[in-house]
Amino acid sequence: MSSSSDKTSQELFDRARAVVPGGVNSPVRAFGAVGGTPRFMASGQGPYLTDVDGNRYVDLVCSWGPMILGHRHPDVVSALREALDHSTSYGAVTPGEVELAEEIVSRMAPVEKVRLVSSGTEATMSAVRLARGFTGRAKVVKFAGCYHGHVDALLAAAGSGVATFGLPDTPGVTGASAADTIVLPYNDIAAVEEAFANTEIACVITEACPANMGIVPPSDGFNARLRELCTADGALLIVDEVLTGFRVSRSGWYGLDPVDADLMTFGKVMGGGLPAAGFGGRAEVMDRLAPEGPVYQAGTLSGNPLACAAGLATLRACDDAVYARLDEVAGTIGAAASAALTAEGVPHRLQRAGNLFSIFFTDEPVTDFAAARRQDSAAYRAFFHSMLDQGVYLPPSAYEAWFVSAAHDDEAVGRVTDALPLAAKAAARG
Ligand SMILES: *Cc1c(COP(=O)(O)O)cnc(C)c1O
Repeated sequence: MSSSSDKTSQELFDRARAVVPGGVNSPVRAFGAVGGTPRFMASGQGPYLTDVDGNRYVDLVCSWGPMILGHRHPDVVSALREALDHSTSYGAVTPGEVELAEEIVSRMAPVEKVRLVSSGTEATMSAVRLARGFTGRAKVVKFAGCYHGHVDALLAAAGSGVATFGLPDTPGVTGASAADTIVLPYNDIAAVEEAFANTEIACVITEACPANMGIVPPSDGFNARLRELCTADGALLIVDEVLTGFRVSRSGWYGLDPVDADLMTFGKVMGGGLPAAGFGGRAEVMDRLAPEGPVYQAGTLSGNPLACAAGLATLRACDDAVYARLDEVAGTIGAAASAALTAEGVPHRLQRAGNLFSIFFTDEPVTDFAAARRQDSAAYRAFFHSMLDQGVYLPPSAYEAWFVSAAHDDEAVGRVTDALPLAAKAAARG
């Protein structure tokens, strides 16, 4: 289980870099923030991954969330087999889309209607367009450190890969599209009040609970106050549950902090590992979409039958026992990681939000992006590589949540907790 055998990964990465920018199709996969060779994965089973050199890892990325049941869950595999027997795509309406939409609406009280798309990026992009179409206004408020996919207007001061690589403002986003975005510090209600006082705002978009700069929970009443400010002004509130939706509870962050959004966005878990995402909300707003209304939005593969089958099977299998196990595993691993770091005197903060957690290598509380960025990324790098060498696959960036699945049994959890003391020692040196 040592990183000594990364020969095939290295060969593939060399070939990839010749034909794919940076060798990857999504920046964080390149291991740029932690260094070393990204591991090319060959297969997954339950809580484990196997790479092309035959190394086995406990998976704490879980495809950044979708694999909430672990890899190759029998219900998901059989739903996909069954769907494959029919066809992979029609570009026409199919029963699975109706069932997936019904499942989402039944889990998320503020959502009366939902439109399916293929990625979280498409979901937030479309939600913002709809909010602008509905209100007839242009400006969008977003928060620094919140990530909403790589939508032009939402990339400013974004989390996830943008934070990992410390990219300032992305070239290719025009001044005109950036000018309609107001970026405010997270958890700063006074800044939001001031923006409303000075500007006509179409919508406020926020992560239900920010998880793409590490976990930075909303302060008490923050989401509720956003709701009040939007209502008073006639702006729409878009709550992005792409990451938290159907993961932190049966519904999502909404289950823990029930603030009614006008629009919500979904992805990750609802696709069960295939490309499915969605946005939904009040019927009055959603009915402004074409063909009912004038706001155009479409997709060749939207509601794809394989993606709907995987998503539906995943959501249907996510029962109370699944959420109880996720809470338990996250609790155990988070506490063990924090204890191991404390034992080695490594400054850190364990931040939790439901069953999501992350560790910041800093000794101050992290309530916004500025604080998140003050962490010691060299310590994380050393920690990450020690865990990798010991067969635990962590997010290759200090700005990401650690993801667990319901398939993480006691053996898998034990492998993680056994690896932590040595990794903490590495972090202390790093
Ligand atoms: C992952 C994520 C997105 C983007 O989803 P993609 O499917 O990667 O385009 C948007 N918002 C949040 C909160 C996310 O975590």
